[in-house]
Amino acid sequence: MENINFLAFAMPAFFLFVWLEFKLAQRKKRPEIFNYESSVSNISIGIAERLINLFIAGSFYQLYFYIYENYRVFEIPSTFLVWIALILATDFVWYWYHRLGHEVNFFWAAHIVHHHSEEFNYTAAARITTFQAIIRTGFWCILPFIGFHPMMIITMLVVHGAYSFFTHTQVVGRIKCLEYVFVTPSVHGVHHASDEKYLDKNYGDMFTFWDRIFGTFQEEQEKPKYGLTHPLKSYSFLWQHFHYYFEIYELMQRSKGFKPKWKAVFGSPAEMDQDIRPMLERKFLQDKTDRSHRLKFRNYLYVQLAISVVVLTGFTYYFESVNFYDKLFVLTFIMVTLINCCALLEQRKWIYYLEYFRLFAISTYILHLENATEYLFIPVVLMLIAEKSFSLSTKYQKLVLQLETR
Ligand SMILES: [Zn+2]
Ligand SMILES: [Zn+2]
Repeated sequence: MENINFLAFAMPAFFLFVWLEFKLAQRKKRPEIFNYESSVSNISIGIAERLINLFIAGSFYQLYFYIYENYRVFEIPSTFLVWIALILATDFVWYWYHRLGHEVNFFWAAHIVHHHSEEFNYTAAARITTFQAIIRTGFWCILPFIGFHPMMIITMLVVHGAYSFFTHTQVVGRIKCLEYVFVTPSVHGVHHASDEKYLDKNYGDMFTFWDRIFGTFQEEQEKPKYGLTHPLKSYSFLWQHFHYYFEIYELMQRSKGFKPKWKAVFGSPAEMDQDIRPMLERKFLQDKTDRSHRLKFRNYLYVQLAISVVVLTGFTYYFESVNFYDKLFVLTFIMVTLINCCALLEQRKWIYYLEYFRLFAISTYILHLENATEYLFIPVVLMLIAEKSFSLSTKYQKLVLQLETR
């Protein structure tokens, strides 16, 4: 039972709070706070981030130690006052990381994913990607460089991360007196809004005074409309993660000369050509989704998400003692399942082949456990026979992809 990772408990806690929020929303007669498709998409993105994080978080921590041991400017003790200074320093770095995340195309490509969601609830807090985590780590490196001890930083980042989870909700009303100092759900809700006067406001994560000092504070007046000014019209798992990188690339292709190309990458998202995304969507997301219909068997999606969460929780708990092949299998299995879930929301026909791929991955893994990979042809042949004799693809389309009118 060595090397257990207590971060595993974050997952059950997350679902407990989402459930509480859901119940409270029902009680307050505000069912619109939750949207089935959007929640599934938010949770899928969160699961992927938690999964990949297991593989890379260690190197982030090593980087903090490396910088601290070799390049620290000051010798800072770990006294009470230093902890206070560290909270402030962490939020200050966050303010600039977050603000640049909105003002520079290259950073926005990673951060935009957090803002896709048109619902504002705890599931939206899960919309974090690995790209964001990598960029953020670059910013956090300033802390060990100044001389804060990496163990203090790591502890503070957990506190910081937990705090920002609780600011993503509509079931808590405005708490005006707190807003003078702290970021509340209302303050962060304004940050998630697409209304003109709320744009590019409230970048702070825990405190509001950075926004007040740098002129980006805005309190909630009218009820915000959550989401992007130009909403993403897709739940595709991969498209949600990569669309803005493609947009930057396309803008670079269109730009002539060094300066415009540089601006395509490091310029402001406000200057992005708005015709690029629809053009790319026509190119990469060919089959049309019928948005007036939704999947009938939504339980199939819930089951898949539940299995992914249970597997990921156990995997997180025992990550250090799991061997390479088990890790590879869990990574493949969960990623394919998440792509599958998002594709189901979009009723993509090719999910059927993805289902086969997942079966293939599971059989390969079981045979590997039994030291019998030479029998891999058996499941493959069985799948081919089943496909030929029972025309499974037609049955799958008729059954699983059944739609109902909204
Ligand atoms: Zn933001
Ligand atoms: Zn947020």
